[in-house]
Amino acid sequence: MLRIEGAQAIVVDRDTETSGDLLLGDAVLDPARGGGERGGGAAETLDASGCIVTPGLVNAHHHLLQSGFRTLPGTRGVPMADWLPAMAAAYGAAGIDASLVAATASVGVAEGLLSGVTTVADHMLNWDHGSPVEDTVDVAHAIADAAASVGGRLALVRGSAREDPARVAASATAIAESFALTRGVTADGMLQLAVGPAGVHSDAEATFRGLGEVAAAFGLRRRTQANEQVDVAIALDRYGRRPLDLLEDWGWLAPDVTIAHLVGVTDDEIGRLAAAGVTGTHAPGCDVPMGWGVAPVARLRAEGVELGLGTSGGGSNDAGHLLADARLAMQVSGLAVLPDGTAGPQLDARDVLSMATAGGAAGLGRPELGHLRPGAAADACVWDVSGVADAGVADPVAGLLWAAPGRRPRHVVVGGRVVVRDYALVTADERELVASLNARLAR
Ligand SMILES: [Zn+2]
Repeated sequence: MLRIEGAQAIVVDRDTETSGDLLLGDAVLDPARGGGERGGGAAETLDASGCIVTPGLVNAHHHLLQSGFRTLPGTRGVPMADWLPAMAAAYGAAGIDASLVAATASVGVAEGLLSGVTTVADHMLNWDHGSPVEDTVDVAHAIADAAASVGGRLALVRGSAREDPARVAASATAIAESFALTRGVTADGMLQLAVGPAGVHSDAEATFRGLGEVAAAFGLRRRTQANEQVDVAIALDRYGRRPLDLLEDWGWLAPDVTIAHLVGVTDDEIGRLAAAGVTGTHAPGCDVPMGWGVAPVARLRAEGVELGLGTSGGGSNDAGHLLADARLAMQVSGLAVLPDGTAGPQLDARDVLSMATAGGAAGLGRPELGHLRPGAAADACVWDVSGVADAGVADPVAGLLWAAPGRRPRHVVVGGRVVVRDYALVTADERELVASLNARLAR
């Protein structure tokens, strides 16, 4: 058992805040039932004086491979039509294989843990199209092993981008069969498998249908991306339709589907997403630098579309720091142009923190993640708010997001295991992870 002691505030969920101690076993323990007096029965303690405890953050949309390809020449300030081939050339030069994804995933998951992300959804889109299906299983296991060894929860999304539809479905099936999954999740909850093409701009109906069948056969969640500039333009050009019209026709507007980005959505489309029970992921740390605009988050939420928060990948965001993007989400929310032409209201800090926790968990179909009610997964972050950057803050929970940009958690716990202690990764040597990635990229 682990006792997080003496917290100034504990954010249990969107509407519940307490203070004091938090007891963690395999799950969050009921303070009324377990623990007894201070120190009693707790094998380990973490000091949380002057700190706020939150649920572990859920990065609902990342591309971990891109952690090896940040700030590449030719990828800054360019349209996506130029960005895609620049990234593809870099992947081609490096050669996508198990050793590369092991190095990039280790770095990406570690970066996430050091910034409070206890669960990351890795939408893995770029597979070596020329390799046998067995190699894609090796790649999937290399990513899963990397996350496990660093100690983060992983939702691996077997994605696709311009890949042969039959091969994608065969690979997704082989990957699903290679892990011991129940409705897509391992018994310890540390690994989840999902499927989803990059979007209607990259993959056609056959891929969406094929991956939909794999998802139905194995009980996997489905995830895709829609309605950034290029997606809308290509859908109109190629099909004379908008992306969500195509997704609806192809059986992909449903409660098990989560759509990332959703930047340019009309009033009618927001209503259709809500009616279909689709969840979404807001990714301003990608949408803003890529010039796609600001998704109408407040409007989507008001209409009933549950949203998570994601960083998207290092090729656009250059960081996997979800709390920094939570701050960005609030800062730019007032610039969102609503379908009626008015500017969006500013997002509330507690709402955005809820998106970065429970919202992302909802899209993954993981009700045990993203909150700290008794029985929840024992994933928590301890944030020190006693320094000068938080001095004078009237509302420390709001200040968690608004103040101290780039804030890192003092301690991070995943599944009851301390993975970050006093700002240091305890599961791996941070510099060794960087050296491994550098060595692999230099090869
Ligand atoms: Zn993305």
